Amino acid sequence: MRKAFSSQHGFAFDNTYARELEGFYVPVEAAQVAKPRLLQWNRTLADELGLDSEALGSEQGAAIFAGNQLPEGASPLAQAYAGHQFGGFVPQLGDGRALLLGEMLDGQNRRRDLQLKGSGRTPFSRGGDGKAPLGAVLREHLIGEAMHALGIPTTRALASVATGESVFRETPVPGAVLTRVAASHIRVGTFQFFAARGERDKVQRLADYSIVRHHPQAADAENRYLALLAAVADVQASLVAGWMHVGFVHGVMNTDNMTISGETIDYGPCAFIDAYHPQAVFSSIDRNGRYAYANQPVIAQWNLARLAETLLPLIHEDETRAIELATEVVDGFAAHFGDVWLDGMRAKLGLTTAEEGDLELANDFLAELAAQRVDFTSAWRALAASLLEGEEVLSRRFEDASGCQTWIARWQERLAREPMTERTRVAAMNRVNPLYIPRNHKVEEALAAAVESQDLEPFETLLTVLARPFEEQPGHAGYAVPAPESFGSYKTFCGT
Ligand code: AMP
Ligand code: MG
Repeated sequence: MRKAFSSQHGFAFDNTYARELEGFYVPVEAAQVAKPRLLQWNRTLADELGLDSEALGSEQGAAIFAGNQLPEGASPLAQAYAGHQFGGFVPQLGDGRALLLGEMLDGQNRRRDLQLKGSGRTPFSRGGDGKAPLGAVLREHLIGEAMHALGIPTTRALASVATGESVFRETPVPGAVLTRVAASHIRVGTFQFFAARGERDKVQRLADYSIVRHHPQAADAENRYLALLAAVADVQASLVAGWMHVGFVHGVMNTDNMTISGETIDYGPCAFIDAYHPQAVFSSIDRNGRYAYANQPVIAQWNLARLAETLLPLIHEDETRAIELATEVVDGFAAHFGDVWLDGMRAKLGLTTAEEGDLELANDFLAELAAQRVDFTSAWRALAASLLEGEEVLSRRFEDASGCQTWIARWQERLAREPMTERTRVAAMNRVNPLYIPRNHKVEEALAAAVESQDLEPFETLLTVLARPFEEQPGHAGYAVPAPESFGSYKTFCGT
């Protein structure tokens, strides 16, 4: 048996999932690894969680976050879930390479999951080895932290530990374990797992648990399960709108990768758009573009319909009535998403008031970017800059500038009816249009250095730059520009 560490490291677990939801998981212990080494340690997040960031930022932390030592109070378990993968239902997925250590309350009294990812086989591993390659771990670490800094709800990375072992993919690659912090790991697929087995009581227990943990306002509603569905629809609408505003393509929006909490989860083949195009796809396995940039709201709604199906027996005893009620909520997603999306687009355009024509103005700008494949992130930043430095800052990014110039004139006309001064407007726009995003070539460069040359410096510099995405940082202009031509078209791989 493994010896537990004392709570001197600040671990104060309170494991409601383990305690209240027996039968929803399998208790599992992490695999022992050869030579754990702490590569990344997120002190800020450790402090938020009340952990001893000093003591854990050491060999002790490496042992714990590799899975070699169990912190006191943890109850490691693999969660059961199912999911639609690229539209096809898989009745059993589950944590095949992850373990929930337990839950802790952070400084703001928010309940957070601590999960190890890459910690060895579980009963849900099927043919997999339960391990994670270093590149994939660092990628999730980086993108999650970048998303957080961009203000988008997301799981976060507490630690990345090298295991000192090889994992075998096409070739042997260094192995690693990620410690992930999340509001919870309850997915649409968690509901589907029990619904597909006809376990109505368990679906109800999971729904009740989710309401308490994530959407407590639903408890007061006349129909609490319908209110739960509506609450998940709301948080997902905001989440996906947030993705769209920064050009993020999740890449694998299977129902097992969609949370009930509304956090982004499972950074696999994701990427940020460079040259704007609504049908942008990066994932090598997404051959039909199911999860293309502009499809994301449609897919979110499709996933919500799958959640709705699991809740039908709870929503109303009469199935026809249940379907009517649920359909209303799922259908309402589109309009709600549209509103949230437009609000964000107004902010990106520097608008503080709402007018009829704003939707068209926003869409026409995107159409201009798409027509000439202009770099998304820097175009928005240039739009603000054009107010102080002249329209060429933006229009010179277009091979044919005429469409852009006509559009700028319309935008200027619209701005004339806004109350803000120019300087305030530019500052406001720069607070929502990031200067730095995880550019694909920079991410690849940083991961290659870390994996192939054991050089973490490029990774750490990138992580530092991305921690303040809206502020210009001296000496880091290179992080704000598109990839050189030679980088070519970008493809991502699941990296499992
Ligand atoms: P993902 O594609 O990361 O969302 O994972 C889909 C499913 O495959 C989940 O059930 C994972 O636990 C499982 N899985 C992915 N990689 C591995 C692996 N290396 N070993 C075992 N299970 C895995
Ligand atoms: Mg997943």
